[in-house]
Formats: sequence, C-alpha cells, structure tokens
Amino acid sequence: MSRRTLNVDDELYRYLLDHSLREHPALAALRAATAAHPHAGMQISPEQGQFMQLLARTVNARKAIEVGVFTGYSSLAVALALPEDGRLVACDVSEEWTAMARKFWEKAGVAKRIELRLQPAQRTLDELIAAGESATFDFAFIDADKSRYMAYYERCLTLLRKGGLIVVDNTLWSGAVADASKDDEDTRAIRAFNDAVHRDTRVAVSMLPIGDGVTLALKL
Ligand code: CA
Repeated sequence: MSRRTLNVDDELYRYLLDHSLREHPALAALRAATAAHPHAGMQISPEQGQFMQLLARTVNARKAIEVGVFTGYSSLAVALALPEDGRLVACDVSEEWTAMARKFWEKAGVAKRIELRLQPAQRTLDELIAAGESATFDFAFIDADKSRYMAYYERCLTLLRKGGLIVVDNTLWSGAVADASKDDEDTRAIRAFNDAVHRDTRVAVSMLPIGDGVTLALKL
C-alpha cells in the first residue's frame, strides 16, 4: 500500500509519456516552438495538457476561461477538447507571447473557438460578469500573476456553473510554499491562496503534485 506520491525519475517519466501521451501535432509543434523562448519554463508539460483535456471533457466543458495564455499551449489543449461550438475566453496582456499562440490555434483549426482578450484579466472577468455570463462557464484555468490568484479565483467561481471546475497552476511553487526560508511576495500569495481554497466550502478541492502543483476546485 502506498500512502504517498511516487518519486518520478527521468526513466519513469519517459515511460509515463511513452505509454499515455497523445499529443495533437499542433501541440507538439507549439511545444517545440516555445522551447527556444526565454520563458519556456512557463509552459505546462504535455501530460498536464492532456490531463486538462480529460478534465474539460469530464465536466462536459463547452464554455471555458483561461487566465494567463503565454504562447498558448494550455489554451490550445483545452480548445481541442471543446465541442465544435465551444468557446474559450483567453486572458493575457502580452501581444508578443499570444501572437505565437494565435498562429498555432489557426494551425490546429480551433482559432474560432478562442476569444483572446488582451487586457488585464481581472477586467475581462469583471466584464463577463457585467455582461450577465455568471454561472454559465464550465471550466477555468488560472495560471498568471500569483499575487492576483485570489481575485481571479473569486471571479472564475462566480462565472462557473455548479459542477464547473477551476484548475489552478503552480500551487506548490517548486516546493517554496512549504519552505520556511522562502518569504517573497509570490510565495506568500500562493500560501494565502492555498489556505483560502482549503477553507472554501463552496468547492470540493484536491491539490495534486503534478507539474508545479495543480489545485482542482469543483463548484458545489
Ligand atoms: Ca504555470
């Protein structure tokens, strides 16, 4: 019986990819294109992308939100898991990074499902709420500036229907959250966020040691 998560060394990780990854060619091409980017470490791993596709399908996602697009890997993954008439509202502030994203969304034939909003995400989420779209979204992915995680989470929760799922990235922050010697602003923000979600009775919660830590919050 195992009570803890397995240590995944390179060999086992390779096995995991070889025996489960089904990466769309456009996702593989986008990953290759992003590898040269100075911030390539911001991209989610391919198995996390596939996991998010499975989660989106599990909640029958048709309407989704992404906070933090970067070069578009996770938005492309989620968009591919949406039905033909699905809609993904993608929030970012970088014209430069999302230019690459757009190219690959086109390439994969899902660009029409993705609505890119280039302005602070909080404004976009507030606009969606003001437009009467509360409780109409099925899925949200939060992966942006850590100091605003709580603000994004609250708005996404409002926009989600009951049974909708919020996926939050980097909640273990390379282990810094549990390292008492780490006291920078981002680490403090993620700790406060994790504690708030832990106490939040509006959601069912699970924190997974996947990637850099992924928290799932299902709206009850
Ligand atoms: Ca991230």
